[in-house]
Amino acid sequence: LTKNKKAMELKGGAFIINKTACDDVFIPEEWNEEQKMIANVCNDFIESEIEPKLDRIDHQEEGLMQKLLNKAGELGLLSLSIPQEYNGMGVDFKTSLLATEYLGKGHSFSVAFGAHTGIGTLPILYYGSEEQKQKYIPKLATGEWKAAYCLTEPNSGSDANSGKTNAVLSKVGKYYLLNGQKMWITNGGFADVFTVFAKIENDENLSAFIVERNYEGISFNPEEHKMGIKGSSTRQIFFNDVKIPVENLLSERNNGFKIALNILNIGRIKLGAGVLGGSKETIKDSIKYAVEREQFGRSISKYGAIRYKIAEQFLKTFALESALYRAGQNIDDKILQLQEAGMEKSKATLKGIEEFAIECAILKVAGSECLDFVVDEAVQIHGGMGYSAESKVERSYRDSRINRVFEGTNEINRLLIVEMLLKKGMKGQLDLMTPAMKVASELMSIPDFNENNKNLIDELHFYLDNFKKTVLMIAGSAVQKLMQTLSKEQEILMNISNMLIEIYLAESTLLRVEKNLKSEKIKENDVQIQLLEIVFYELADKLAKYGKDAILSFADGDEARMMLMGLKRFTKYKNINPKELRQNIALFIIEKGEYRLD
Ligand SMILES: Cc1cc2nc3c(=O)[nH]c(=O)nc-3n(C[C@H](O)[C@H](O)[C@H](O)COP(=O)(O)OP(=O)(O)OC[C@H]3O[C@@H](n4cnc5c(N)ncnc54)[C@H](O)[C@@H]3O)c2cc1C
Repeated sequence: LTKNKKAMELKGGAFIINKTACDDVFIPEEWNEEQKMIANVCNDFIESEIEPKLDRIDHQEEGLMQKLLNKAGELGLLSLSIPQEYNGMGVDFKTSLLATEYLGKGHSFSVAFGAHTGIGTLPILYYGSEEQKQKYIPKLATGEWKAAYCLTEPNSGSDANSGKTNAVLSKVGKYYLLNGQKMWITNGGFADVFTVFAKIENDENLSAFIVERNYEGISFNPEEHKMGIKGSSTRQIFFNDVKIPVENLLSERNNGFKIALNILNIGRIKLGAGVLGGSKETIKDSIKYAVEREQFGRSISKYGAIRYKIAEQFLKTFALESALYRAGQNIDDKILQLQEAGMEKSKATLKGIEEFAIECAILKVAGSECLDFVVDEAVQIHGGMGYSAESKVERSYRDSRINRVFEGTNEINRLLIVEMLLKKGMKGQLDLMTPAMKVASELMSIPDFNENNKNLIDELHFYLDNFKKTVLMIAGSAVQKLMQTLSKEQEILMNISNMLIEIYLAESTLLRVEKNLKSEKIKENDVQIQLLEIVFYELADKLAKYGKDAILSFADGDEARMMLMGLKRFTKYKNINPKELRQNIALFIIEKGEYRLD
C-alpha cells in the first residue's frame, strides 16, 4: 500500500473530504489472468447451464434449482469466498465481486446463488464457532447443503429489529424453544440450513440461531407468486415450538442485529456487482436488437433517440463498474491492513467491509437503479417486442425490480448513507467539520475561476473539488441548523444522499479514466474521455437541483440566498456538446456490439 493510501483511502466515506490519487484506486483494466479466468468460468457456467434453462427455472421445475446449485458447487463457485481450510477457494474480496458480476446475469439463479453464498453462508462463516464452522461450512461450500437467511417477518421489514419471533431457553438449558414466523425467505423451499433471527425471551435485541430444516415444528407456506425472479424460491416459514440446541446460538446473545446488519453490508455491495453483470448483458441485448431492427428504411440504431439511450446505458454502467471495484479494492486493502495489525482473517474481513458500509450502501442504490434504467430502456428500444414474453429483455425488466427492495430498500439505504457519514463525523472518525467550515468561509471570498488547469483531468478535479463543497456546505449547515431533528427531515437527507452517491460515481469514473490515460491505455480522444465529460456535465446539474431542494427545505432569507449563491458557484460547469459526445459514445459501443472497452 502506498503511504497516501494508508492514510486516506482506507476510511469509508472519506471520499467526500479527501482528494484521491488515481494510483490509489483499482480499476477493472487491472484484472490479472487468474481473475479473468474465474470470470470466464462464471460466464461459461451461466451461458451453458443457466441461459438455456431460464424458462424451466422460472416455472420452478422440481429439483432443478438445487441441481444447478450443485453444479455450481462442483465448479467451486459456491466456495469462492470461503477460506481453504473449509474446502473453499479463499479468493480476495474484489475477486468475489468479479465472480458475482459474471454470475449476475443468471436471473433467478443469481438470486438463489447470492442468497446461498451470501446471506445464507456468511453468518456462519463470520460469526460461527469453530465447531459450527466445521459442521456447516464444508457442506455449504460444495452445495451439499443449501442455506437461507431469515430476518424479515410480516410486521417487521425495514424495521428489522422489531421482529416477534421468540426463543425461550429450556429449563434444563439444553435447547431454545423457537416460535414465530418469517416471510419472503429466499431459497426457503429447499434450504437445509437457516440463519434465523429471534429475540431470546424479553431481550431488546435480536439473537441469531442456526436452524436445520429437519428440526421438528418447522412448516412452510407455498411459493409466493412474484412479479419477477419467478424461479427463485420465496416462502413464509413458521416455527412452532422448534427445539434449537443451545450450541446453535450464533455468536452471542443479543448480537443478532449486528450480525444481520454486517451480513447485509456484504449483500449490498455484492448486489451492486450482480446488477453490473445484468446491466452489461442487457446492453448487449439492446444493441443487438437496435442494429437488427429497421424502421423507416434504416436500422433504428441510426436514430439519435436510440443512440442517446444506448450511450446512457453504457455510461451509467461504466460509472457503476468504476465505483464497485474501487470500493472492492479499498475493502481488500483494509482487510490486509487489519490483518497486518494482528487481527484474525474472518474478523478483519468483516471489519474491512464494515468500514466501507457507506460505499456498500451507495453501490446497492446506484447499482439497482442503474440496472432498472438499463432494462427499462432496453424494453423501449425493443418497442412492442420488449413487451413480449418471448423477448429476453421482458424477463430482465421484471427481474430487475426486486433489487431496489431487498437488502434494505433504497430509501433505507439512502438514509443510512447520510446517517453513517454524520455518525463518523460525530465520533471523530472523519473530520467533516474542518472542511465544512472552510467552505463556509470560502463563500465570502473571491471565487477561483479555474484558469490554471492545463489539461482536462486537472480541470475535472477542480470541478470535483467544487462539487464536494456543495455537499459539505449543505450538510454542514443542515446539521448546525436542525441538529437532532435532521434525522427526521428525510427529504433533505435524500437530497444529500443523492449528492453523495452521484459524487462517488463520478469521482470513481474520473479516477479510472485518469489512471488509464496515465498508463497510456487510452488516448486523449478515447470514448472514456467523452463519457467522463458527460458524467460531469450531468453531475453539475443534478447537484444544483438536489442542492437547491435541500437548501430551500431548511433555510430562507439571507441564509438561503448565500447558500444558493455558493451552490451556483460550486456547480458551475463548462459548456460541452452533449449530442455530439453521446453520439460518439453510442457509435463506439454499437460497433463493439456489447459492453467492451478495448
Ligand atoms: C423476493 C424477495 C426476496 C426476499 N428475500 C429475503 C430473504 O431471503 N431473507 C429476508 O430476511 N428477507 C427477504 N426479503 C425481505 C426484504 O428484505 C424486505 O421486503 C425489505 O427489507 C423491505 O421490507 P418490507 O417488505 O416489510 O417493506 P416495508 O419496510 O414495509 O417498507 C415499505 C416502504 O416503506 C419504506 N420505509 C420503511 N421504513 C421507512 C423509514 N423509516 N423511512 C422511510 N421509508 C421507509 C420502504 O423504503 C418501502 O418503500 C425478500 C423480499 C422479497 C420481495
